[in-house]
Amino acid sequence: MNTLIAGNWKTNLLADSAQALAQAVRDHCNQTNVCVIPPALYAGKVAELLATSDVALGLQDISDQGMGATTGDICAQQAVDVGAKYVLVGHSERRVRQFETSDLVARKALAAASAGLVPIVCVGESLDDREAGRHEQVVGEQLAPVIQALGTVMDCVVAYEPVWAIGTGKTASAEQAQAMHAVIRRMLVDAGKGQTKILYGGSVNAANAAELAACPDVNGALVGGAALTIESFAVIVKAF
Ligand code: PEP
Repeated sequence: MNTLIAGNWKTNLLADSAQALAQAVRDHCNQTNVCVIPPALYAGKVAELLATSDVALGLQDISDQGMGATTGDICAQQAVDVGAKYVLVGHSERRVRQFETSDLVARKALAAASAGLVPIVCVGESLDDREAGRHEQVVGEQLAPVIQALGTVMDCVVAYEPVWAIGTGKTASAEQAQAMHAVIRRMLVDAGKGQTKILYGGSVNAANAAELAACPDVNGALVGGAALTIESFAVIVKAF
């Protein structure tokens, strides 16, 4: 199965540094399985820089509505227009801070896929959920509405990102990651979507990428902090 390594730049960088990083990714990681996800304001410029490369562009969020009266949002048609191939939906920072529900995330995934984008659907449990042994149930409940909305026809990528591992320097062990990815794989197979890529995210770095990449159901990585320097991002890309 193919892999995907996506760098989520979140709300980091300004125009100059975003362009410099895009150029560095283009120069050092020029592969079709690499995607950069800059702040939306810089997506147009990054798209220009990547135009002659194999590196794909993603956005960090999308409206569940089409063009029209949704002030501050970006709709799927605009994401396509700027040159995006992927869009994150349901990142835990949005589920927690913007109170996004799994039903809204499913509607965003549907809006994205209907416009020809590939939604990268983020799921993952909190530390409380894991300590209470609810992690599989929580992730299952997050994923089910998306699977139902997309059916067998529309593609997506799933990113398993345990919330307790995001930006904390605490990575899930390879065993923990593989165990959850196997649960997600079973759900996808049962839904006729067994070929869907499942990325791991949560403090992936140059030192732990190879171990995660060796897990049979880990098909790539969603990388935050370590995607902000080309040195670490290039090592992660090589590991997959
Ligand atoms: C993320 O934001 O999706 C992420 C995984 O961040 P980090 O790699 O910094 O934990």
